Amino acid sequence: MNLELVTIGNELLLGFTLDTNSREIARLLAAHGIRVVRKTTVPDEAESIDTAVRQALERTGVVITTGGLGPTNDDITKKTVARLFGVGLVTDAAYLAALTRRFRELGFNDMPESNRTQAEMPEGALPLKNRWGTAPGIWLEGEPGRVIMLPGVPREMRGLLEHEVLPRLTSLSDYQPDAVIESLVLRTTGIPESELADRLEGVEKRIDPVTLAYLPSLEGVDLRLTAWEVEAGRASELLARAASQVREILGELVYGEDEDDLAAVVLELLAESGNTLAVAESCTGGLIGGRITNVPGSSAVFRGGVIAYSNDLKTSRLGVPVGMLEQCGAVSGEVAGRMALGARTACGSDYGLAVTGIAGPTGGTEEKPVGTVWIGLSGPDASSETLLHFPGGREAIRTRTVQAALNTLRRALLSKETAG
Ligand code: AMP
Ligand code: MG
Repeated sequence: MNLELVTIGNELLLGFTLDTNSREIARLLAAHGIRVVRKTTVPDEAESIDTAVRQALERTGVVITTGGLGPTNDDITKKTVARLFGVGLVTDAAYLAALTRRFRELGFNDMPESNRTQAEMPEGALPLKNRWGTAPGIWLEGEPGRVIMLPGVPREMRGLLEHEVLPRLTSLSDYQPDAVIESLVLRTTGIPESELADRLEGVEKRIDPVTLAYLPSLEGVDLRLTAWEVEAGRASELLARAASQVREILGELVYGEDEDDLAAVVLELLAESGNTLAVAESCTGGLIGGRITNVPGSSAVFRGGVIAYSNDLKTSRLGVPVGMLEQCGAVSGEVAGRMALGARTACGSDYGLAVTGIAGPTGGTEEKPVGTVWIGLSGPDASSETLLHFPGGREAIRTRTVQAALNTLRRALLSKETAG
């Protein structure tokens, strides 16, 4: 089954409110095999709402709207859609009584007049009980189709969608009960989208009917595999097969699936091999330690670290020689390596992971522009220094650095596993 969303509200178009409703609706419906094929956002204006809903109905026959159901003057969804269906508004006596009772329970003697309008329903509509707020949802069927109106407040929208709308949609005659839309995400980092695409050339044909989408962010590129409108059991099977085909090509470039966190993956590898970790951070100022300690149970392998932002701390806490700092500069492979060793020694850990770089916007030179980052790793068997150049502003560079540092350690632990 296909349907369209119309999200209504000036605040959405002014950019003050992020349209999280359509995302939640699309995700929940997809999990039940119902496909959102288009979404439109319109202001609180009768003409815009009328046009958007009318055109959406012409395409799919089923529309869910959110927003504009409140008690105030700017909330006009209900009367606009009623007019589109050629019906008037009538007061739902039972609902009005319930609403009045509710206000009394809340300690108000008289219900505000504006709330009375919330008991008005388009003629012939089915009110959907809102246990999370005062505006009921509305299910309206007739010529020119089926419109389900939900409030804009996300908590209320969510409650109504799950408990009132979904059960009704899935019992419609054109619903295919066995069809689901399921996704699986393979997570990569440290490799650009275009290079991934080169390596995965031709894979789309082999994983068909599963589709592949590239989702790049500061933390890496997620690969979303999706099985569309197939039976529930078959979807998981198709996705598992497609995932193993992609994994076969990408190997260690994939660090996890779905919500897997790179820091958690690294901690697990450390725990498996019985090793501990300490960090020395310059340009990330504690972000790596933050990511690691965000993972429950990290104390089993993470000992701590040093935020050595200044040169004298690099020397006094991490043992970086003054001469090395003068000769090579704080952002250099030599210093990164020495910081990593210093973290190991200072904290008594098996591995030391260090970063030093230029996050900008100032401090760059021709030789070492903003975005230059060195990652140092010191371990029981080997050490390494890696030079990276990141694009973007300060926040982007710092975020990418954290991810790259964690990934450097992950790759080192994996290659040791294969060697041992
Ligand atoms: P309304 O039902 O239009 O009066 O909306 C009430 C509140 O819900 C608004 O002030 C917004 O904060 C929120 N809201 C409305 N539409 C959305 C949406 N599409 N996504 C997330 N929040 C929304
Ligand atoms: Mg609104």
